[in-house]
Amino acid sequence: MRLRNIAGSREVIGESGFVIHNPEEQKGNWPEIFGNTNPIHIEIGMGKGQFIMDMAKAHPDINYVGIEKYSSVLLRAVQKMEQEPEPLSNVRFIRMDAETIMDVFDAEEVGRIYLNFSDPWPKDRHAKRRLPSKEFLARYDRILERDGQLEFKTDNIGLFEFALKELEPAGWRTKKVTFDLHRDESMMEGNIMTEYEERFSSMGNAICKYVIER
Ligand code: SAM
Repeated sequence: MRLRNIAGSREVIGESGFVIHNPEEQKGNWPEIFGNTNPIHIEIGMGKGQFIMDMAKAHPDINYVGIEKYSSVLLRAVQKMEQEPEPLSNVRFIRMDAETIMDVFDAEEVGRIYLNFSDPWPKDRHAKRRLPSKEFLARYDRILERDGQLEFKTDNIGLFEFALKELEPAGWRTKKVTFDLHRDESMMEGNIMTEYEERFSSMGNAICKYVIER
């Protein structure tokens, strides 16, 4: 998702208290940002923030950090947050490319990672840019607690099959997997839909999901 550049988006983001502006300075200090030691769960490539904000409402004892590469997209999440009747004290946003995620979170500082409808980067030469690639799994390995889990949802079967093949060489294994989430009663329990999930499932596309661990 890349929206056209929106004039003033960097300024609005720059002034938002929900956005962490120098995230590298918070490495190891996230409990201070949230004012508690609750677990930290992150969504990488959060888009306009619907999933992470709904998760934060459903799980007030978890702290959520949403990561998004583009300011034009992050702007929408900031605006959505500002429309909330009560600010969600357990959510923060970062505008960054997740390639440098290890500069922002300390070893094992994150309890769970969500990837939702990640960009497919269809050309083989761009495989390393795919968020469930083994190169990214190695980065997640550093920041995720030893018994932490990573959840990935997509309707792109080619990307999902690629993601499954990446697991073993990177030292991960599936805990749960489905090629049709919305027909899988146990994996649907507590499911919170992302914007893309709403859009693609309403078109009849099956949603694939895995939960992985090391
Ligand atoms: N997760 C949302 C959903 O399911 O509705 C948005 C999905 S959208 C297809 C993918 C998002 O990931 C885009 O907003 C894109 O800018 C972001 N993204 C892609 N690569 C990224 C990266 N390396 N670091 C941070 N965000 C990234």
